[in-house]
Amino acid sequence: MIKRPTLLIVMCVLIFSGCSRQEYLSNSLVQNTNNSIYDYNMKRDLLCLMIAYPNFIIDVEQNNGKVYIKLKSGMKVLYDDKKQKNFSSKLQNPDIQDMMEQPYPLGKVNKLMDENFDPGRIRVYPILKEVYGSNKSAIESNLSQVSIGYKRYAFNNTNNAAKELKAAIEELNVLSRNNWKISTNIAPSSGTYNYRYISGTGRLSPHAFGIAVDLKRDNRDYWKWATKEQGEERIKEYPVEIVNVFEKHNFVWGGKWSHFDILHFEYRPEIILKARYFGKEIDTSKSWYDGVELNKEKNREYIQLIEKAIE
Ligand SMILES: [Zn+2]
Repeated sequence: MIKRPTLLIVMCVLIFSGCSRQEYLSNSLVQNTNNSIYDYNMKRDLLCLMIAYPNFIIDVEQNNGKVYIKLKSGMKVLYDDKKQKNFSSKLQNPDIQDMMEQPYPLGKVNKLMDENFDPGRIRVYPILKEVYGSNKSAIESNLSQVSIGYKRYAFNNTNNAAKELKAAIEELNVLSRNNWKISTNIAPSSGTYNYRYISGTGRLSPHAFGIAVDLKRDNRDYWKWATKEQGEERIKEYPVEIVNVFEKHNFVWGGKWSHFDILHFEYRPEIILKARYFGKEIDTSKSWYDGVELNKEKNREYIQLIEKAIE
């Protein structure tokens, strides 16, 4: 007959080993799910970039477990450096995964974003330089003029940036006829192209590439000028038509950054495409590219390239 204390010990061992086994199983399950969510996200990010910059990103490669996009110039840009980074080091030293990580919310917002939620504010400069010009004179040779109100402003002609700005402004000019609030928040514009660094940083402003426009200024527009309450008040009263039309033409709005920049719109097709195609939560029972228009031949081509590079 087994003594009572021994029985107790045996039961404890059984219970604990059962627990730890279950814990192990659920851990590996979590890891598997995470892995496939990570892969879904990675492939989606790469696809959005290829659709956003069709003449500049020519391939995707995997080498020793590291994934790169290959630019037309031959330069390779790493997808994920796998480093643990806080928000400011992501801003200063981002990889593609950092740039694409925060989901941009399309449409009307009624409040200031949560702290350090700045979708589209992180930029991978080698991509911008490849597309819009690697230095001041290269950028300036790509500029063309777009009319905003009664003045003309320089904007980058590459990758449809100036064309999309022109289309957005023309659409807003029509809407302004029935809504004076639209025109009074657009012109006079506070500027487009300006070869400068972001104040207090060593990073070039998106204005330096000629891909950002500041519309008419209000003193509550910038996180360094105004309190959070003032910023939020301005976001609430900002005409949603301006935001919708710019987003339709692949611009992100600085009003959707916790470091708000409400007069600022920036041409970032990769961020808008990800929001448009993949705005919902990932459903791994569907294909990773569920949401993308498959009737476009180019899209199918990019999907194949990505599937071939990443098993
Ligand atoms: Zn700006």
